[in-house]
Amino acid sequence: MSRRDLVLEELGLTPLWVRPELLAGPDEPTAAEPVANAPPAEQASPVSPPVEAPAPRRQPPRIVVPHAPAERAAAARPVVAAPPPARGNGGPNVRATLAPLADADSTRAREIAALDWQSLQAAVTGCTACGLCKTRTQAVFGVGNPQAELLVVGEAPGAEEDRQGEPFVGAAGKLLDNMLAAIGEKRGERVFIANVLKCRPPGNRNPQPDEVLQCAPYLARQIELIRPRLIFAVGRFAIQTLLQTDAPVGALRGKLHQVNDIPVVVGYHPAYLLRNLPDKARAWRDLLLVQQRLRELAATER
Ligand code: URA
Repeated sequence: MSRRDLVLEELGLTPLWVRPELLAGPDEPTAAEPVANAPPAEQASPVSPPVEAPAPRRQPPRIVVPHAPAERAAAARPVVAAPPPARGNGGPNVRATLAPLADADSTRAREIAALDWQSLQAAVTGCTACGLCKTRTQAVFGVGNPQAELLVVGEAPGAEEDRQGEPFVGAAGKLLDNMLAAIGEKRGERVFIANVLKCRPPGNRNPQPDEVLQCAPYLARQIELIRPRLIFAVGRFAIQTLLQTDAPVGALRGKLHQVNDIPVVVGYHPAYLLRNLPDKARAWRDLLLVQQRLRELAATER
């Protein structure tokens, strides 16, 4: 039995994740996936130590931020291999840029776009740009390797994340860890995990447009500094924010999108999967796409 199957069996997930008849299930419904961001409280896991500043990757993907300072534009890197043609659901392959997230026309966003990793962490920790700073316990910057190959982007911290200061530590986080393990990845190794919002919306309500506007430059800068090979956006909110689209998740799954030439795979939010077990089969296909594309990108960069 492979390591992956052992992990899955241990977790009691084997039948759902690997049963072929489930993998061949019907196509994705086009209705938007419910946003799920309320993992039940559960036992604490230790907060990861502060992450170190990222060192430059040997062959990072090109980052193009319109209106970026000249020196950063000059530091543009070679473009990663073009994604394969669309497949799957027949929806669009989205090519987005970080510009709407970075909101490069605002002074504050321009300042954030110039921060190094440590200053960015400090800025997030002390942020008072929106009302969420009044209700949070702490801001949740993200966790993992600042030189990660894979960046997972979720929606916003929930109650447990707010308490522990680390993203995805509740029930949904456990499932996310299991999903990553199933493709041989692990939080903190080649992976960084972040959210669109760094502070918890009270009662786990949906993020408000103004909160996203204020917070998105942090994510844009994290993407620039990490320069991941691949982004895995989970849940409607992260997907639609990153790709700047209203298209339903079902129309975006199963294909490669791009943000500033960084390939983006989209998938269900783990909290949604906890409530919708049959969709785990589809989630497994999304994970396989992540794994396959990571391997292809690693091979082209050798
Ligand atoms: N849901 C998210 O999107 N992010 C978290 O960190 C936890 C739950």
